[in-house]
Parts: sequence; structure tokens; C-alpha cells
Amino acid sequence: MDLQMKDRTYLVTGGSSGIGLATVELLLAEGANVVTCARDLGRLDAALAPLGDSDRIHTAACDVRDTAALQRMVADSTDRFGGLDGLVNNAGGSRMKPRDQVTLDDWRDELDLKFSSVLNTVDAALPYLTVSPVASIVNINAVLARQPEPRLVTTSAARAGLLNLSKSLSLELAGQGVRVNSVALGLVDTGQWRRRYEESGAAATFAEWEAEIAADRGIGLGRFGRADEVANIIATLLSPRASYVTGTTIDVDGGVARYV
Ligand code: NDP
Repeated sequence: MDLQMKDRTYLVTGGSSGIGLATVELLLAEGANVVTCARDLGRLDAALAPLGDSDRIHTAACDVRDTAALQRMVADSTDRFGGLDGLVNNAGGSRMKPRDQVTLDDWRDELDLKFSSVLNTVDAALPYLTVSPVASIVNINAVLARQPEPRLVTTSAARAGLLNLSKSLSLELAGQGVRVNSVALGLVDTGQWRRRYEESGAAATFAEWEAEIAADRGIGLGRFGRADEVANIIATLLSPRASYVTGTTIDVDGGVARYV
């Protein structure tokens, strides 16, 4: 199915790795222009180089917690591509610490990264989205928003806040023609999990280590997700094909969520 994204422009934060990179690849394959950022511009450009589509890619070094840098990136890229039709709030990572080890600064940092950054990015993009006939925002979230885990207490709380915020944004922006949806992830094989595997010092292969975690967490499909499996759902929600879908959340979690 043609996702009707050709020559449209989409901003994906955190495009140098994992889900962000898979989403950038998919949007380019659909014929869209893509604006993307990460803190490490060298790594971002190196990750995108094999795609060889520089006419339709705009990259920037930008920390999503930095409001001025976000505004600059959006202004530069809209000058280049003439507008913005959608936004994927993807940049981030998880903070694995039980509550009794979490400092006040940890809480502030996590809320900055997982909550305030989305507000910053939406604020920067909104003047352009409101004049697009097909505007759409997708917020990357986690099943932790509804199913908190003690060892991920800050991430779970920040994710719950983002889920609530996404609903508020969908209600507020519907009248301006901007759809807002979320994707709630379980465990997806990306840079985050590869780093955890390296740090674990496990003697097992990654596949054995992954299978053990999948069994321990009760992932119905018995494995982690792949970044491209997430990107497919993000692109669908972003696409004008989903024109009557707003304020909703799709779980992409292999059946790990226990809530109904
Ligand atoms: P990766 O670590 O593979 O990629 C993260 C990307 O975000 C990188 O491009 C990174 O680049 C960028 N990034 C991180 N922090 C910032 C920042 N402050 N400003 C700008 N860019 C930033 O992660 P995933 O693909 O796994 O994760 C993508 C999203 O999905 C995250 O929000 C994550 O929390 C969420 N998620 C992932 C799960 C999983 O199992 N993989 C589960 C639940 C949620 P750089 O470091 O150069 O800035």
C-alpha cells in the first residue's frame, strides 16, 4: 500500500540508531524528505551514509532537551524543504535504577528527556504542522507507561506522564488538523539492548541472552522486537492513510503487556 508520504517532510528525533534509524530508512523508501537529529552528529551522518539519499535528508546535532537547538533545526530544515508534515518524538533511552538509588537529579533528568523534550519539539514544529493538510505526531512510548517496573521507576513514571500528555495534545490539536498518537514498546533489539548485553558480561550469545530475558519477562512471542517492526507501525500512524486515527496508542510489544 502506498502510504502517501512522497515529497512530504517528516522530523524524526534520534535517527542515528535503532528505531529512529529504521523509521528514517522507511520514510525515505516511501519518498519522503526526512529531518533527523542526535547529539552525536558524526555518528548520525555515518549511520545515514549507506542510505545515500542526501538530497532528501537533513541532519543536525541537536539535544532534544535544548529548546533553542530544536528551533534552529526546524527553521533550517523548513527553509530547505518548505514545510513539515509530521513529527516522531523518538530520541531517548531508559534509566535502569531501583527507586532507593534514584536521586532528585535523576528524576529531573528523566522528566527532561522523556516529557519536556516532547513539549519542546512539538512547540518548535507546531507552526509548520498546523499549515500541513496531513499533520501527524507520533510519540514513542513504552508499555511501562501502564505497566511500571520497579527497576525502571523513573522511566515508568515519565512514560505515564507522556501517555497522558499525548492524549491532551491529541484533544488540543485535533481542531487544528494535527493528529497525535503513541506507540507503546515492549523490548526491542536496538543499541540500548546491545549495550546492556555487552555490560552484562554474559557468556551466552546475544540470542541466548535475549531468549532468557524474553522468558523471564513473559514476552508472548518469545523474542525481542526488531526496529523495522516498530518503524512499520510508526509510519502507518504518521501516514495520511491513518487520517481518522488520533489520541490512540498501539502496543508493539510481542504480547508482553498484561493490561487489557
Ligand atoms: P537507541 O539507543 O538505539 O537510539 C537512541 C537514539 O536517540 C540515538 O540516535 C541517540 O543518539 C538519540 N538520542 C538519545 N538521547 C538524545 C537526546 N537527548 N537528544 C537527541 N537525541 C538523543 O534507542 P532505541 O531505538 O531503542 O530507542 C528509541 C526510543 O524508544 C527511545 O525513546 C526509547 O526510550 C524507546 N524505547 C525503546 C525500547 C527498547 O526496548 N529498545 C523500549 C521502550 C522504549 P545520540 O546518543 O547521539 O544522541
